[in-house]
Amino acid sequence: MSFSARTKLELARVLPPRICCQEAELTGMVAVRPERRTELGFEIQTEKAAVARKILMLIQRVTGQRGTVTIRRSRQAGKHNLYRILVPARAVTEHILDHPCCRRSFLRGAFLLGGSVSDPGNAYHLEIATSKGDRVREMVAALQSFGLTAGIVTRKRRHLLYLKEGEGIADFLRLVGANQALLHMENVRVVKDMKNTINRLVNCDTANLNKTVEAALRQIEDIKRVQHRIGLDRLSPSLREAALARLAHPEASLQELGELMSPPVGKSALNHRFRRLRALAARL
Ligand SMILES: [Zn+2]
Repeated sequence: MSFSARTKLELARVLPPRICCQEAELTGMVAVRPERRTELGFEIQTEKAAVARKILMLIQRVTGQRGTVTIRRSRQAGKHNLYRILVPARAVTEHILDHPCCRRSFLRGAFLLGGSVSDPGNAYHLEIATSKGDRVREMVAALQSFGLTAGIVTRKRRHLLYLKEGEGIADFLRLVGANQALLHMENVRVVKDMKNTINRLVNCDTANLNKTVEAALRQIEDIKRVQHRIGLDRLSPSLREAALARLAHPEASLQELGELMSPPVGKSALNHRFRRLRALAARL
């Protein structure tokens, strides 16, 4: 099951306790569905039995009456049944933005029927689609009231609200009460961050290592050139010592090599000796 489907299944089990929020959630569901308005209410449909059960439960709680559902059974293997449910007009509300609790429920309902979220292991992307411009603006306002900034794209009268940041998507899941999904998301994010950190460290080590190796090879080239042209015996004692140590320990870092000198010298002092050797080699 995809992360999106798992998240929805989890949200199908979240039932807001207050009537105001139950109405707001039904309103969110109606808000993202191509509206089939009848004189009795709004017809919405879903392929998910758990979501259908939730809608019926919400209708029952809000109106005190059973909802009307028709099921179109699919004969194709692998295809889902389609549950078509009539949401009575009096079960939806205009007061979706009044209280934070209702705003959350409104967003939950909209996501359940019109949303999807990518697996955070692949990409950070959450979206809710609707054909109604005023509804998408309400969703943006609801998100904004919680400090979340959503993007909107409009294509052929289809409005797409989206979140593209890991942080924002995690906040959204927290708001609507998808705690399991949130947990999964946080775990993936921790692993991702850790991988990035390790990669950075490894790259940094590799870069340093390469620099050390390149410098050592250059030094050996200089030393060989001097050795070939004038011989190492004609070098000053300190330069000769450095040159012989480098030839004996081609792989050593400057620091390790410095400790082999008597008396030991630091990195920069030894580097200075190799610079003098390099200048000498260049003159020869
Ligand atoms: Zn409420």
